[in-house]
Amino acid sequence: MDFLSELGIQDSNSAAFCGTWMPGEGAPFDSFSPVNGKRIATVRAASRSELETITSKAHEAFLRWREVPAPRRGEYVRRMGEVLRAKKEPLGRLVSYEVGKILEEGRGEIQECIDIADFAVGLSRQLYGLTIASERPQHSMRETWHPLGAVGVITAFNFPAAVWAWNAMLALVCGDAVVWKPSEKAPLTAIAMTKICAEVLAEDGFAPLVGLACGSNEDVAIPMTEDARYPLISATGSTRMGRAVGQVVAARLGRCLLELGGNNAIVCLEDADLDMALRAVLFGAVGTAGQRCTTTRRLLVQKGARVELERRLLAAYDQVAIGDPLESSTLMGPLIDHDAVEQMQRALQAARDQGGEILCGGDVIELSGDLAGGHYVKPAIVRIRHDAEIVQHETFAPILYVIEIADLDEAMRLHNSVPQGLSSAIFTADVRAAERFLSAIGSDCGIANVNLGTSGAEIGGAFGGEKDTGGGRESGSDSWKAYMRRQTSTINWGSTLPLAQGIHFGD
Ligand code: NAD
Repeated sequence: MDFLSELGIQDSNSAAFCGTWMPGEGAPFDSFSPVNGKRIATVRAASRSELETITSKAHEAFLRWREVPAPRRGEYVRRMGEVLRAKKEPLGRLVSYEVGKILEEGRGEIQECIDIADFAVGLSRQLYGLTIASERPQHSMRETWHPLGAVGVITAFNFPAAVWAWNAMLALVCGDAVVWKPSEKAPLTAIAMTKICAEVLAEDGFAPLVGLACGSNEDVAIPMTEDARYPLISATGSTRMGRAVGQVVAARLGRCLLELGGNNAIVCLEDADLDMALRAVLFGAVGTAGQRCTTTRRLLVQKGARVELERRLLAAYDQVAIGDPLESSTLMGPLIDHDAVEQMQRALQAARDQGGEILCGGDVIELSGDLAGGHYVKPAIVRIRHDAEIVQHETFAPILYVIEIADLDEAMRLHNSVPQGLSSAIFTADVRAAERFLSAIGSDCGIANVNLGTSGAEIGGAFGGEKDTGGGRESGSDSWKAYMRRQTSTINWGSTLPLAQGIHFGD
């Protein structure tokens, strides 16, 4: 495991960083690889009192950082991007080994971190506000964006590097500090990322800007959400987590940026290019072993295309090479842990009980040799009615529900009937159907694509979803505004004091 030593991962590692590495006084825990169930390394968690230090150091660093001109802040982020480029291979391998996604996707995840760093560097020269015409003579009005403070970033296991980078790179150029509470299922990636990025900031004493506090929800995550020194909590994970976090942060009138679960569908009409649809469904449903927030979970296929698309999908699923994610021939690695395997089994049983027919897959696979102890399954396709209760839920596993629809009207009704609203796609050659899908009466999701799948977003666009997905937007476009506070200023350059709305007061 050369990549571990290359990244400075030891047998026992502190996961508490406040500019320097702290002892890690919380209960220690192990990080296991889903590839073979083996312990990779031990992690010494942050304790509640260490979190206190991490928070106050991040806040102190913020008070200095906010005075550094934004393009200079961008210069630090540019250097972070360069170091990430240099370490892309070992980091990609660590992601792959710690969470089980195939190496190609592990590398892709680090590329996403590099891309968002590049984006943030450009952004550091474009944090623009507005000027607005004033109704009063000899007055001018403007909006300015200012740094916010320390941002608490809580992340899920399935994107153990990129989600932090999406938040951190933008927050840093916006003048904020970031304190990261990663998933306890992927702490080593967080430690490696923090080491790399903190080194760039350390030269000028800014390392506390990238605090790390990996520990239990009780000691770390919940106290962070309760703490008013975090004006913004950006939380990525299940809808259940988002509801809990949203309520705690709202109770202190803080801000939340929530990126929660999806239940994403591809609509495939009869006139679609089925070769393209097939490849998109395969990548969307099987990629990352169905453990992406944007995974394709529902295929709403029009009657005339259903039999053929099902036939091609079954043939393609049969060819999916399942096994060691670090091997280049593998298309699907393991699920994250034993619980995930059980949840998949329970969902399949529920689908059967609710009238679903399992067309393929779903079996648990016991691999031998180096992969013994890994959490492998066969991806499943289930033909089912859309009103089956299980179809409403996000099961974080490779289960694709195939639902036959009569026409676009029915597709849209069913499509929008689930609680989640993250990503969606339509395959059609009919421009009218495509435009309708994208219109106000079309998809109700934060992401709506035409002739490409639900997963694999670029960082240039705003990323996030509606309804139970939480409403947050991260990454590109104007998502940076979430990491800043807006100030409206009116300047009177005359020598009288006219009031707005023409009010006369005592004159
Ligand atoms: P999870 O909800 O179990 O945990 C996510 C994070 O939240 C962890 O760090 C966890 O410790 C923390 N957490 C849990 N309860 C908390 C609480 N009460 N207060 C504060 N923090 C708490 O999710 P997971 O299993 O790690 O990840 C899978 C889920 O994440 C899926 O639902 C997936 O769709 C979602 N996800 C969404 C996006 C997105 O951008 N929309 C991206 C990745 C993953």
